[in-house]
Amino acid sequence: MKIEEGYVTNLTKFYILALLSEKPRHGYDIMREIGNAIGKKPSAGQIYPLLQNMREKKLVKVSIQDRKKIYVLTTEGKSFAKSMINHFSELVKIAIRQKLKKCAHCGCEIYSGIFRKGGKSFCCKNCAKSYKNSSSKRS
Ligand SMILES: [Zn+2]
Repeated sequence: MKIEEGYVTNLTKFYILALLSEKPRHGYDIMREIGNAIGKKPSAGQIYPLLQNMREKKLVKVSIQDRKKIYVLTTEGKSFAKSMINHFSELVKIAIRQKLKKCAHCGCEIYSGIFRKGGKSFCCKNCAKSYKNSSSKRS
């Protein structure tokens, strides 16, 4: 069965795939992790139908550990999760890039710790200093 990328239409599904690609997990473990990530614990009624759907699509299988059900990605589920994660991380990169500032001196992209001086943004103190030096030299 070929699963389209459109299969991941909501973030919760994506989270489940990402979480299970780390390691097999109990249902309540999945709910807790998603709760931590989004700040609100999802209900069993939200998570279990998704897990059930993923089982039907053969992305996930159930195995028993310590007499409890754990959810494990199938081989197909693993490769699907991997392609989804790559796909999403590209989107995230684009979203971040649109917000990124470039250092006025060296031109590198500033991911964190913007250093501002004279209305310009720099990646570090040294760039701010060098920029000042080179511009004052010009004038
Ligand atoms: Zn710089």
